[in-house]
Amino acid sequence: MNGGIYVHIPFCQSRCRYCSFYSITGRNFPDSGEYARAIISHLNSFEMMEPIDVSTIYFGGGTPSLMPASFFSEVIEGVSASVSLTENLEISIEMNPEDVVPDYLGSLKQAGINRVSIGVQSTDDSILRKLNRTHDAKQAVSAVLTARSIFTNVSCDVIIGIEGEANEGNRILKTLPFGELSHLSLYMLDGAKNNHLAAESDHTADLYMELCRQLENHGLKQYEISNFARPNMESIHNLHYWKGDPYIGLGPSGHSLLYPFRIWDHSGLDRFMKGQFRKGRMKYDKKTFVREMVMLALRLRKGARQEDFKERYGIDLLMEFGWLCSKFPGFVRCDGEGISLSRKGMLVSNEIFQELVVPAPPQSGGE
Ligand code: SF4
Repeated sequence: MNGGIYVHIPFCQSRCRYCSFYSITGRNFPDSGEYARAIISHLNSFEMMEPIDVSTIYFGGGTPSLMPASFFSEVIEGVSASVSLTENLEISIEMNPEDVVPDYLGSLKQAGINRVSIGVQSTDDSILRKLNRTHDAKQAVSAVLTARSIFTNVSCDVIIGIEGEANEGNRILKTLPFGELSHLSLYMLDGAKNNHLAAESDHTADLYMELCRQLENHGLKQYEISNFARPNMESIHNLHYWKGDPYIGLGPSGHSLLYPFRIWDHSGLDRFMKGQFRKGRMKYDKKTFVREMVMLALRLRKGARQEDFKERYGIDLLMEFGWLCSKFPGFVRCDGEGISLSRKGMLVSNEIFQELVVPAPPQSGGE
């Protein structure tokens, strides 16, 4: 079965105000070669239930673009020595706009990277300052153009829902060079976690709906709640998550799905560098796993497909989950082929997904 590998680079130059990822700032980072070797030992600590053909490697963070290109070559080499890789491998890196410079991009390409995702976040300088980002709007736009001069597959991340962004939708549409992008992720700030930064939820909902329409006019078709792409340029790595494919998360705070197990790793960097990886794991029962897979598939524009669920899990999706459509009319749609969310449903997806959550059994292990 095809699957993906995520490599976490938990280092940042400064802390953005909205961030909930595990990352460290303000101390010496380990030597990049040592970190690469720790990542490969982490990979080798996994016991595969079934062999995986790895079709994607995703370097995320943190700030992967703080690492030298040699780090990526070393990890890619180590991964290819440890697991089987498919022929058309997608290898992505997340970059901060200020790190997008031609020489570095050229070395990344040589190391094997073939997809770049730039953390643009906003095209309004006052919003960027509010988020404590270290780049400005001009740098963000020029990063997209520079990346595109070297890579075909260029994505960017944008966040909406920040207080004071009244015209952010128009600004994004006027300034971002959409023609250069193959992919865009449009995130809504999590108001519950970032109360101090969040705009009125009605404003954010209107902006989301408008941007969805406009992005499609620019040829970036929505394929997931927060993701838009040109035909055949969807993120194969993220599709692994939504399709329930196996994946391995490497680095501190790693998180993996190797059915029938979900596996969590410790978050501390020092512990990680000493080879103390595993925090706990949970063994799925089939009912919990299928519910989780329905939830993930509903994130996709095409939704959960009757045929896929029959083939993968041997269940009649419409028979078992058709009740979602009568419970959320106008938000969840059922047709003969499956179940999907309307755009209005995507806006309240968390409430819909609550209906599918099965309380987790206690995990083994612990910090
Ligand atoms: S650069 Fe990314 S990972 Fe680092 S603090 Fe900012 S949002 Fe978080």
